[in-house]
Amino acid sequence: LTRLYGPLTALSNVRVDVMSALVSFERVFEVLDLQPSIAEPANAKPVPPGTGRIEFRDVRFRYPSAAEVSLASLEDVATLDRTVGEEVLRGVSFTVHPGQMVALVGPSGAGKSTTAMLLPRVYDVTGGVVLVGDIDVREASLQSLRDTIGVVSQDSHLFHETIVENLRYARPDATDGEIWAALDRAQVGELVRGLPDGLDTVVGERGYRFSGGEKQRIAIARLLLKAPSIVIMDEATAHLDSESEAAVQKALAEALSGRTALVIAHRLSTVRDADLILVLDDGRIVERGTHEDLVARSGLYGELYRTQFADSPSERAQDPAVDR
Ligand code: ATP
Repeated sequence: LTRLYGPLTALSNVRVDVMSALVSFERVFEVLDLQPSIAEPANAKPVPPGTGRIEFRDVRFRYPSAAEVSLASLEDVATLDRTVGEEVLRGVSFTVHPGQMVALVGPSGAGKSTTAMLLPRVYDVTGGVVLVGDIDVREASLQSLRDTIGVVSQDSHLFHETIVENLRYARPDATDGEIWAALDRAQVGELVRGLPDGLDTVVGERGYRFSGGEKQRIAIARLLLKAPSIVIMDEATAHLDSESEAAVQKALAEALSGRTALVIAHRLSTVRDADLILVLDDGRIVERGTHEDLVARSGLYGELYRTQFADSPSERAQDPAVDR
């Protein structure tokens, strides 16, 4: 029985949720200097500092099938020859110009998180190409790709260590002054100043238990210290109280300011402010445009807007694009 059970358990563990992969991406790329399973070529090109342009050209992707996974160790999955399995991205093309915010929206399972993860090479495309600046991400040096891209997600990981140690993972040479400035911009400086151990407060179970919103703001401070030119953000529904929510929003605005942003958007305020909205459905971009453009059409966005984004009547009432 154990012999039967072993592989089954292994398989269910392998189907890692996309978001946990994003979180682990954040850990791997921002925090731990682990060797990622995805390799760089011998003549890898450095992504120049400050690069903000992103381009997806006819990108196709499918996750490795369970059968393939059972034949390979987790580390090998990314390099498997892919011949079977269903494509979850089927010819996705778009460009994000430096400094723009592009929102990915669409029904659950449409491929939003998958699209976002191909940029930092959590996985590699199975067709087409992803460019950062004018470099195919598969040809970029991993260190420069890590330096260029930052990730903000709901479940940002903090280690069971002091606040200052958690932040210095982003920039080991950061001075205390720079650390305080980042905490202030992330709306969490005041809280940390009020703690008896200040920056040396230990985070976590056996230390100080920060709330979800506080942890997120510390993670945003870490991103501000790292100062990537491209930010991937997943807004996924947080259950924060309204005070914490307002502080997180302010911190997120700091995190995005002056950077290129690819946002998996769940908030009306974000989609409304986006320079471009890409509506994904079943692995394809089915509509694209600004909020005003898309609301005026009676397509999938209009439907999502009414059901998903406009659940806050007050926000909707302030929306000039709404036909009342
Ligand atoms: P949501 O809004 O629910 O997060 P999404 O638009 O981000 O959805 P993805 O998470 O990118 O969609 O998923 C796209 C498709 O890929 C879905 O059919 C999903 O079941 C599948 N998928 C996601 N992660 C994996 C995985 N690790 N292995 C196999 N299939 C996966």
